[in-house]
Amino acid sequence: MTLRRMSGRERISVVLLNKPSFDELALKFLVLSLNKIQKCFEFEFQDLEEYPLKNGDLSEIEDIIHCFSRQIEKEELEGDYFVGITSYEIEENHFMVASKGGDISVITTKGWDKHFAPPSVFEYIIHSLTTALIMMADKTGTMDTHDPIRGCCLDYVYLKENVKVDIPMRYICNFCKSAIKKKLGSDFLECFEKINSFDWLGEVEIVGTIAWNLKKYFRTDLNKDTGLYKTRRERLKDYLLGLPKELTSLSLNTLVAAIMGFIIGLLLSAD
Ligand SMILES: [Zn+2]
Repeated sequence: MTLRRMSGRERISVVLLNKPSFDELALKFLVLSLNKIQKCFEFEFQDLEEYPLKNGDLSEIEDIIHCFSRQIEKEELEGDYFVGITSYEIEENHFMVASKGGDISVITTKGWDKHFAPPSVFEYIIHSLTTALIMMADKTGTMDTHDPIRGCCLDYVYLKENVKVDIPMRYICNFCKSAIKKKLGSDFLECFEKINSFDWLGEVEIVGTIAWNLKKYFRTDLNKDTGLYKTRRERLKDYLLGLPKELTSLSLNTLVAAIMGFIIGLLLSAD
């Protein structure tokens, strides 16, 4: 009996295809949190011996998928589906490629951080992951994106910036809901709706929510951070903004101001 049958869930193996520009642990925390809020999928991260993509040389979809497949085979990775995440470009400026009815997808974060965040790169990845899962889990191979856009997670986004609209919409259109229900069943529809709603994140200000824990343990505030690694300058700015007001005003005192100025100067010059 396979693990899939034993657990009643499909295993989603998530793989970083090259060294990420975002906080890897924060992404793992968020994606693995999905295991607690739905019953269809068990998300797992695979730590590879080496990243399959060494640079941006491969950009053709076929080449990227082939390279990823080889790595899955070489490292004997297990899973019902494999989702790779890269920061390199995918052919013709795609955000994501998913094999309809198959088991491999690749998402790229290229361009998201600089041009479209917020929403954070994490919300973008989870949004793309949902779309990829819908297309792979449908074994008829007929679930597809649609044009024009409806604010739905299955919008075909010819213009990349439209994804920025889709993520906060948190919506699956009635057409797609009916198709998912018919081809995959009510349980899957419920799981996709739960993941895509982002309700499970909660609010950054509310103690104990996932968003609050993300800020507490990973220093990522979804109300203002992109999820990318922060420079020393950004970390310093966060620290200073987090100081109590009394201390901030005290820093105007000559002695404190002189010491802080010296430390800030040192940190900035080392950036
Ligand atoms: Zn739709």
